[in-house]
Amino acid sequence: MSTSTRYDTIIVGAGWSGAVAAKELTAKGRSVLVLEARDRVGGRAKTYLGGGAKIDVGCSWIHGYKEGNPTKKLAKSLGVEAHLPKPAEGVVYGPDGPLPKDKVAALRSSLSAAQASFKLPHPAPAPSASLASALFSSQSALFGSSSPSSDPATTDISSASPANPSEATPTPSTGNIDKTLAEGLARTLEIPLGLKLEKASLKWAGWETTTSFAGSDAAPEGGYEALVNKVLDSSKAQVELSKVVDSIKKTESGVTVHTSDGSSYDGQTVIATIPLGVLKTFSKEFFSPALPERLQEAIAGTHVGVLEKLLLQYPTAWWPNASTTGSYTFLPTSPTPTDNSSIEEIFEGSSLVVANFAAPSLPSPTPTLLTYLSETPAKLLLKQDPAEVVEAYHAFLVKRLKPLTNPPQPERYNLTNWLTDEYSYGATTTPSIVSDHGERSPMDFKELGRPVWGGRLGFAGEHTEMEHRGSVAGAVVSGFREAERVDRLLDLLAE
Ligand SMILES: Cc1cc2nc3c(=O)[nH]c(=O)nc-3n(C[C@H](O)[C@H](O)[C@H](O)COP(=O)(O)OP(=O)(O)OC[C@H]3O[C@@H](n4cnc5c(N)ncnc54)[C@H](O)[C@@H]3O)c2cc1C
Repeated sequence: MSTSTRYDTIIVGAGWSGAVAAKELTAKGRSVLVLEARDRVGGRAKTYLGGGAKIDVGCSWIHGYKEGNPTKKLAKSLGVEAHLPKPAEGVVYGPDGPLPKDKVAALRSSLSAAQASFKLPHPAPAPSASLASALFSSQSALFGSSSPSSDPATTDISSASPANPSEATPTPSTGNIDKTLAEGLARTLEIPLGLKLEKASLKWAGWETTTSFAGSDAAPEGGYEALVNKVLDSSKAQVELSKVVDSIKKTESGVTVHTSDGSSYDGQTVIATIPLGVLKTFSKEFFSPALPERLQEAIAGTHVGVLEKLLLQYPTAWWPNASTTGSYTFLPTSPTPTDNSSIEEIFEGSSLVVANFAAPSLPSPTPTLLTYLSETPAKLLLKQDPAEVVEAYHAFLVKRLKPLTNPPQPERYNLTNWLTDEYSYGATTTPSIVSDHGERSPMDFKELGRPVWGGRLGFAGEHTEMEHRGSVAGAVVSGFREAERVDRLLDLLAE
């Protein structure tokens, strides 16, 4: 079935990039149809609503809130406030319990120093060199062998805020760093990176820190999903949910988009915001004519990372110092887990960062712990029964946090699975990965955003923004970028 309407633009996907592009194009008077595969708007913006809480289990932070992130302006224009959590303590647990503050400060300082020394190294190392190879070398500042850095751009998952854990100002290293603890802390970098340090390219380490929005992090009131819904609602686009696009074809006068229910839609132009993880699964025939070889290579070679969240909600906040602690970081107490590890061993062998949502520094405290799972534990845990994961994790938390009284069982839980979600297949793109001959570089993200078919087929989404990939900011910037480009093209086509 084909509709007789011919849209100026058809946007595939109603996540951040699609919503922004729709708002911008309709504001310019263009007719826009948004086709979304899911039965909801938001894509990787998803808010858990349970027990009165609103906790984001996809994106949660407006990074660089005071440093120019355009999401702030969008939120403000729609009357949505964002909260900058007050600083709260981040406690780090070693094998024997919480580490003393001065030890934690020294560990963090060494990690910052090591990161600073590997920031866009010159002369450029071999493209096959990994961040791990430098970070864990015997000369690494990670082990206290060089002076500390206070470059805030190098403290990635930091901000000393309860739900975006990591720490603030480094203090001078004592030069007496416990290697195992230092490595364990360094592994927490795998959470925001979305990949193991062994896969992250040393050559491009720190590339994004010079341009991406960093500094202050704020959480939008009511959650990210409600905000992106407001953005799309404020557009004049026609939005169709549960429409899985299964092919996009160039025609003599424009494009035709087909969906799996047999419908087809005609447009002058199309903007595909389909996540990179999903683009990777398509056959060559999805786009007709096929995409240029170079673009196909960038789609196949650019990496999509893993990041999952495990949320446990309790009747009361039983964990120690719940009113003053922003986050708990658990360093591994056993070897890196493998396919044969038990659920308990997966937790014991991983570096885990847990945000405490009971902290009164948050606008609406709730007795909830939210754990960030990096690639290794996430992949292993997703193979297990979620209820068993929760049971084992609760036992792990009790064992490590050692409450004085018997704690209650969790009332509710949520374990995300962005990795096998058929409309994302992963969390976000990662920084450039190692490659044998330098095939991979930040230019891949540029390539992924270049339009084809004389500009009639454009691409938006976090994976298309070289400067801001992997973030809502990247998706938003790409939405603005494509809306402007398509608007100009439509003017030209009308001449
Ligand atoms: C766990 C997690 C935590 C994160 N934390 C943060 C954070 O704190 N701050 C931050 O800035 N960023 C964060 N991010 C990244 C951020 O969520 C993404 O960069 C951003 O939401 C991507 O928006 P997008 O429009 O590019 O893609 P998406 O939101 O994925 O939108 C693409 C849309 O396309 C739809 N789609 C897919 N296939 C089809 C098809 N065949 N037909 C029709 N529609 C289709 C999808 O359903 C989806 O709605 C996080 C991501 C994850 C997963």
